[in-house]
Amino acid sequence: MSDQTHLTLNDGRSIPQVGLGVWQTPADTTADTVAVALAAGYRAVDTAAVYRNEKGVGEGVRRSGLARNEVFVTTKLWNDNQGYDAALTAFDKSLGRLGMDHVDLYLIHWPAPTQNLYLDSWKALVRLKEEGRAKSIGVSNFAVPHLERIIGETGVTPAVNQIELHPRFQQSALRAFHADKGILTESWSPLGQGKTLDDPTLTALAQRHGKTAAQVIIRWHVQLGLIVIPKSVTPSRIAENLDVFGFALDDADMAAIAGLDGAQGRIGPDPAAFG
Ligand code: NAD
Repeated sequence: MSDQTHLTLNDGRSIPQVGLGVWQTPADTTADTVAVALAAGYRAVDTAAVYRNEKGVGEGVRRSGLARNEVFVTTKLWNDNQGYDAALTAFDKSLGRLGMDHVDLYLIHWPAPTQNLYLDSWKALVRLKEEGRAKSIGVSNFAVPHLERIIGETGVTPAVNQIELHPRFQQSALRAFHADKGILTESWSPLGQGKTLDDPTLTALAQRHGKTAAQVIIRWHVQLGLIVIPKSVTPSRIAENLDVFGFALDDADMAAIAGLDGAQGRIGPDPAAFG
């Protein structure tokens, strides 16, 4: 799809705003799913070592016939491999499974603060970027103190913080901090894992725009300037989730979705206590 939008990372590189998430996509069908998405126009895929489907992502990219530099591939360092040397080793293994000589974005998956190794891991990612094997580097599930510490200690600001973000958990304070620091916000579980799709506010907006609730939610992420990585294995939904560039939500629509935010809306683990 030629009309999809891109954002510029703080290192000057460009990232497609909508990508395919592959958490819980089965390893044996991931290549098919990725190839379907790339044929539908996606140019970004979000995987992780812990998803155990990096091999399928690599195969899907190769099967698409697209040049490697046409597809933005993100993977992540798992909690068991935090630390400087362990992170470098884990990165090599991810590249091996992907069958690639670089990734476009490498993220620390969780700060895992009780391990207290995320600063060492970040220093490893800084080295991987200097080596050009991770073209961009960032983090996931980091809170403000974690971000302040790695920036303060290394002088290198993550390009991205990938966090849980959907209409019922909108993360306004963290988004404002990111904006101040030049960090792009990437929304995980952007559809609330499918649980927000029957919300009456969203279904009413969908009906008015002649779109689905999933498309309204993805469009909301796009208009907020977020990177968004909805997951599906169903070809029609994969296509639907990228088809969000031909309509716009107006101010009243955006305000109505803003009203769905709630402090209790978190679905996933609390980063302060996980890993
Ligand atoms: P999601 O919010 O993308 O929801 C996915 C579910 O919504 C699907 O399984 C399906 O049931 C439903 N769905 C998708 N498209 C639909 C459509 N058009 N119509 C109807 N139903 C539809 O949830 P997710 O998979 O948790 O998150 C997306 C991606 O975010 C993941 O695949 C992964 O890449 C990433 N993620 C990262 C972290 C992290 O810690 N960094 C955590 C969770 C997810």
